[in-house]
Amino acid sequence: MGRAFVYVILGGGVAAGYAALEFTNKGVSHGELCIISEEPVAPYERPALSKGFLLPEAPARLPAFHTCVGANEERLTPKWYKEHGIELILGTRVKSADVRRKTLLTAAGETISYKFLIIATGARALKLEEFGVSGSDAENVCHLRDLADATRLVDAMQTSTGGNAVVIGGGYIGMEVAASLVINKINVSMVFPEPHCMGRLFTPKIANYYEEFYKSKGVNFVKGTVLSSFVFSPEGKVTGVNLKDGTNLPADLVVVGIGIRPNTSLFEGQLTLEKGGIKVNSRLQTSNSSVYAVGDVASFPVKIFGESRRLEHVDAARKTARHAVAAIMQPDKTPEFDYLPFFYSRVFSFSWQFYGDNLGEAVYFGDFSGPSFGAYWVHKGRLVGSFLEGGSKEEYEAIAKVTRLKPEVDDLSELERQGLGFVVGL
Ligand code: FAD
Repeated sequence: MGRAFVYVILGGGVAAGYAALEFTNKGVSHGELCIISEEPVAPYERPALSKGFLLPEAPARLPAFHTCVGANEERLTPKWYKEHGIELILGTRVKSADVRRKTLLTAAGETISYKFLIIATGARALKLEEFGVSGSDAENVCHLRDLADATRLVDAMQTSTGGNAVVIGGGYIGMEVAASLVINKINVSMVFPEPHCMGRLFTPKIANYYEEFYKSKGVNFVKGTVLSSFVFSPEGKVTGVNLKDGTNLPADLVVVGIGIRPNTSLFEGQLTLEKGGIKVNSRLQTSNSSVYAVGDVASFPVKIFGESRRLEHVDAARKTARHAVAAIMQPDKTPEFDYLPFFYSRVFSFSWQFYGDNLGEAVYFGDFSGPSFGAYWVHKGRLVGSFLEGGSKEEYEAIAKVTRLKPEVDDLSELERQGLGFVVGL
């Protein structure tokens, strides 16, 4: 048995939703496009899972956060896909792909063929087993990548009120989940090997600002060490964790946020890989001209840096998806993809945005004891990155615009003196 489509999007996450919207903007016909997703629901804004979804009061639930509400665009409910003649093949895992024959084989045994394929398989959460620690399938050990994970975490939080949670990992997921656990009245210890949180992006000074606030909310930071084993009850529930430095922490709940791995395995040996993802050109086209890759799984040329990057952020997923569709549907009208990396996070009442690259020397501005502050990164005499906490819409737009220009900076102390005035004035 089998079905044939002109366009197939493999994966039903953020990128898939934005690609579907773009396909309809560009005039796809009914019956030409399908989305195949392992998840049982239509594409949704994944970042909601570590924010609104975990709130104790009025939590966000589907259908409220289907794509593309995160970019203030239409909300694509299952009804929308139906009305637009887009087939949603949900709850369906693709188990193999043959790019030469242009076919995908589902776990249910169906062969789906395409003329153009967009790979939007995203990434999966890393498990502690990959680092030699067993036991992360216990019922009160949670990960956070999809709706099923988030639902499980909410259930675990509800039975842990007033108890103890251990968060493993100090990156995005760790920081956002820790904030949500605090809001849910659970005592939190955060464990990570780096000297400070958000080690890949923050400088020690920026990290310190957030860590001090977390500490004021009772969060206990245990840095410079990793989990070595879980402690189990006779029923197989985790009751604590042992750390490599000898510390033991009690736990009613453990959340593991130690990074992700792109879902490339279906295409290994068939497409060129790079930086852990699928290599694409500035049209988001892989080494096979009928196959495109977008979102977390794609390693694409970032023109402003003059090199390829794989970015694990929602804005890149949205924009690579839209660009790939434009490149497929209107190849002559679509310019090279020219992307300015953009990351953001919201925790407690904080909200920050980062644009560009965190290379070179950091120059700080604003009031680090107040609600708004930031930093620029200057590399080889040019401003290459900007970070701002607590900015206004106009200020965020200004830092984005100026970062894209990569202006020359001769005098770092003058840049520091001007602070936000530097970008607002340009
Ligand atoms: P995904 O959204 O992960 O979608 C991949 C889809 O492919 C999934 O539906 C998956 O089930 C499906 N799939 C994979 N393999 C198969 C297969 N073989 N067969 C069928 N289906 C398959 N980024 C930010 O910039 N800011 C944030 O605040 C932020 N918060 C986040 C919070 C959480 C909890 C998470 C998990 C991520 C967050 N991100 C954030 C990152 C952002 O969500 C991702 O960058 C984005 O979702 C990537 O989109 P994608 O479509 O490439 O992959």
